[in-house]
Amino acid sequence: MSRTDHRNPNVAGLRPRSKLVHGGIRRSSFDETCEALYQTSGFVYGSAEEAENAFANDGTRHVYSRFRNPTTAMFEDRLAEYEGAEWAYATASGMAAVHGALMSGLRAGDRIVAPRALFISCTWIVKELCPRYGIEPVFVDGSNLAEWEEALSKPTKAVFIETPSNPGLEVVDLQAVSDLAHKAGAIVVVDNAFATPVLQRPFDFGADVIIYSATKHIDGQGRCLGGVILTKDKKYGSEVIHPFLRNTGPTIAPFNAWLLLKGLETLELRVQAQSAAAAQVAQFLETHPKVAQVLYPMLPSHPSYDLVRKQMSGGGNMLSIFLKGGKAEAFNALNGLRMVMISNNLGDSKSLITHPATTTHSKLTDEEKRAARIEPGLLRLSVGLEDPQDIMEDLDRALAEA
Ligand SMILES: *Cc1c(COP(=O)(O)O)cnc(C)c1O
Repeated sequence: MSRTDHRNPNVAGLRPRSKLVHGGIRRSSFDETCEALYQTSGFVYGSAEEAENAFANDGTRHVYSRFRNPTTAMFEDRLAEYEGAEWAYATASGMAAVHGALMSGLRAGDRIVAPRALFISCTWIVKELCPRYGIEPVFVDGSNLAEWEEALSKPTKAVFIETPSNPGLEVVDLQAVSDLAHKAGAIVVVDNAFATPVLQRPFDFGADVIIYSATKHIDGQGRCLGGVILTKDKKYGSEVIHPFLRNTGPTIAPFNAWLLLKGLETLELRVQAQSAAAAQVAQFLETHPKVAQVLYPMLPSHPSYDLVRKQMSGGGNMLSIFLKGGKAEAFNALNGLRMVMISNNLGDSKSLITHPATTTHSKLTDEEKRAARIEPGLLRLSVGLEDPQDIMEDLDRALAEA
């Protein structure tokens, strides 16, 4: 990093964690330390000629915050530096990112392939929304490569992958599915929310587009909603996705982008600490007498453990806990907790736990619940930043009362 360009620091030679602190900065003439919050919808011009030039040189000059905002651009550029992306665009929520990343590239007559185990709103987009526009959705068992091969034996426009999945922690082979997808002519879009950019790097395994719900670990402190779309190749982002977003307007507010920008500074430290704590909690719960099964990507008992070790550098902070009991025991356990909070959110500094069958997945039919293993005794735990010992003691005490 050169002292001479302190207003636009060059982070190219820095290690990833340092990029999360200094990447994307554009200091104003006031030379502030902390990134400025440009709480503005529009921009002014010194002359008619300047305005004309701003519109002629699309993208280099800020003209309107739906297209680009300096604070939002700092967030986008910082995450793009870390992820190795050539293009990024921040959205108002994770779902706005999923919607924009998929619908911008699809049109009537196209085909999309996705695993059955997806976040519930992602399933809605593929299963309910796509057919309204003449796009054919095809669902597979995400962990079964033979099903992917069969589904991708026909020309396909997009493959949407979520790995590990929410809440089933199902793992998809990113490299194998990306190879099959590319042979079928498809663009590979990965929802990397659970793994985070710290623990899984989908571009290294063939992904073309990565999306995040930044609401989760990127903010990580429960303050705002946000999302982001990143593309490996600048052309796809700027020519296919950007026109769709700038004209439909799922733009993030500058203040929320500023929170996420500051969240990135601690992302690696938080995610590594939460992932290490979750691994400890998973091991503890696996031998607990009230627990039938713990699903955690970095436990040898996870059905895709070998694949997890190949494509992830940590198991993340999310655990699925299958109690030996049913709904009554699950509710007793939740009601017995003192520190871990009952909440359907995740990726927060506070440990959060939910009963998916009666909350996030209550709208599923019984058959859909069975297929997704949303059982009456299932709890989904998001491990926070507390001392892991306190988390384990709280769970132990609550389970004793369950
Ligand atoms: C939360 C989540 C989303 C949606 O993000 P929002 O910010 O809530 O819109 C999408 N995918 C996954 C895997 C999620 O966990």
